Amino acid sequence: MARLTTDRALFDKAYPMPRIIAWISILLGFFLSFSTSVAALPVSPDTIEVSALEDGQRSLGAALVYAADPGAEAAISDIIDEGNALEWQRSAVATPNFGVSPPVHWFAVSLANESANPVQRLLQMDHPLIDYLDVYVVRDGRVVEAYNTGDARPLASRPWEHRTFVFPLELSAEDRVEVYLRAQTDGALAVPLRLWDKQAFFEHDQDRLALQMLFVGIMAALAIYNSFLLLATRDWSYLWYVLSIITISTVVLSFHGITAQFVWADHPRFNNLTLVAGISGNVFAAALFAYTFLNISRQGSLLRWFFIGTAAAGALVFIANFFLPYKITTLLAAAISVTGASGAILVGAYLWYRGDILARFYTTAWFLLLAGSVLITFSKFGILPHNLLLEHAQQIGAVAEGLLLSFALAYRMNLERKRRFLAQAELLHVQREANRVLEKRVRERTNELEVANRKLLEANAVDGLTKVKNRQFFDEMLAHEWSKNARGPSEMSLLMIDGDHFKRINDSYGHLCGDACLQHLARIYQGAVNRAGDFVARYGGEEFTVLLCYTDRQGAAIVAERIRKQVADTPLEWEGQQIQFTVSIGVSSCIPAPHSDMKRLIREADEALYAAKHGGRNQVVVSEADLNMDEKGGGRVLPA
Ligand code: GH3
Ligand code: MG
Ligand code: MG
Repeated sequence: MARLTTDRALFDKAYPMPRIIAWISILLGFFLSFSTSVAALPVSPDTIEVSALEDGQRSLGAALVYAADPGAEAAISDIIDEGNALEWQRSAVATPNFGVSPPVHWFAVSLANESANPVQRLLQMDHPLIDYLDVYVVRDGRVVEAYNTGDARPLASRPWEHRTFVFPLELSAEDRVEVYLRAQTDGALAVPLRLWDKQAFFEHDQDRLALQMLFVGIMAALAIYNSFLLLATRDWSYLWYVLSIITISTVVLSFHGITAQFVWADHPRFNNLTLVAGISGNVFAAALFAYTFLNISRQGSLLRWFFIGTAAAGALVFIANFFLPYKITTLLAAAISVTGASGAILVGAYLWYRGDILARFYTTAWFLLLAGSVLITFSKFGILPHNLLLEHAQQIGAVAEGLLLSFALAYRMNLERKRRFLAQAELLHVQREANRVLEKRVRERTNELEVANRKLLEANAVDGLTKVKNRQFFDEMLAHEWSKNARGPSEMSLLMIDGDHFKRINDSYGHLCGDACLQHLARIYQGAVNRAGDFVARYGGEEFTVLLCYTDRQGAAIVAERIRKQVADTPLEWEGQQIQFTVSIGVSSCIPAPHSDMKRLIREADEALYAAKHGGRNQVVVSEADLNMDEKGGGRVLPA
């Protein structure tokens, strides 16, 4: 019995709903078929009166007799012959279910028209997956009509080109026929056999077909729309989503015979291939979808390998489907879809529990699909009523799953966008902060550099021997002060100081002594000027200049005289000797005017110095030239 359960479970072709549902349907199938098989019964079927059908239809399941043909040896002639060796039993349920073994079953039903008018009826076998289905109409022990069809044969073998198997029956007045059916299939066998009034069937079928097409339309729209999103976003989730929509639709549609009728009517080989391809393809795509959609790469290695392994298994079964027998590949497809689906929903629930918003959508979507599959199974086996809604529960579940996940993908994109925006804002803040720090550092460094530069400049501006400013500095400062004074005029004076007979000191005491004298003089000059803007510079040799900004001619003359006197009064101590010397000073003054020539200030001081030398040295001469009048005046020699 255990073996039987397993077989039925794994090979159940009649209910190839993906994932966990396969198991549920199969277990139910086993119990229900078990219940039919115990009812060992009389051979002859009840006779069904066909002239009056309540609601225009009638299920024949409970009025059937059936027999397994394990050797697949019986022909219709053997069956009609009452001596055939098969063990006939009476069915007791509306939809007999036989699982998968043995593959061949015979069914018989007896129909009578007791009315005075001929009637036309349709016999429908609403199980599109039976591989070979032969129908024989027998009147008075003779076959009057025979059909050899099934989904392993081309669509054209069906009397009506319909997604299920539909056979026309004509009974004349007070007629009676037996209908024998031989069903052979590798998958599980269920027998939802119905007798229809033509018009009722037509009306019923319109609704069912419209719903199937609605399903096709919605799923196609979802697939196409999300394909565009895939192109636009290059987000792999969309690819796996679109693939899983296509594969689940393929499974549902081939289960309902739509693909056999509309897609490959002339290639019945695809009918068996498609189911396993659809299921394994769906396992593959759904696992990769979960992987990308739920960001499984960020999770632990157990979860990562579960989804990668499931996807790989799906791909392997998909390929194996083209080489291995159908019985084995359905087994594999059932196994991977059950483990894949149960794992996926558990992971979804776990991530939901951990607070992942996307897992909420994911788990709910899965639940809807599974709920649809459970409901349709319960409806098939008569646990729930057989109505329009329940018959299409799986399609409704698949559409709900597709819509919800499509919305979830959009939600996820929005979430990512927000995350990116926040990350960018954070980055911008960090950048601004870094810039601020950098600017501060640059400012500090610039200040330090300026200080260092100034020090360097000042170091460069200093005369090595005397430590007063050098000639270059004097030139620059004069130009600077000149332009400054030119803006707000005030008088500026220049002293040009030259040692008297300095050559003699060098000659008498040596150059080292001459140098010491220069240092001594510089100290005296430096000590004489202390106002801001005044400075002493070594102009060249033993000539010095003193620039006195904001000082007029009289003031300059006083400073010059003070210097001259101090030099004359302060001899230098050199190796025990008193070295006495004097200086001559030329003074010039002016109020700098814009564009006027500052060199004239120097020239006038020089000329005044020359005059002082000529006047006998050790004296101050103030140039009287009015530089501002732009004409050269004479000089006045101040008394020594
Ligand atoms: P005068 O009164 O006419 O100025 O006579 P002087 O000898 O001072 O003549 P001048 O001003 O032309 O003298 C320049 C001399 O100054 C030449 C050189 O011996 C001396 N001298 C110039 N620079 C230095 C220096 O750096 N060190 C020393 N020891 N002597 C210098
Ligand atoms: Mg000189
Ligand atoms: Mg001199």
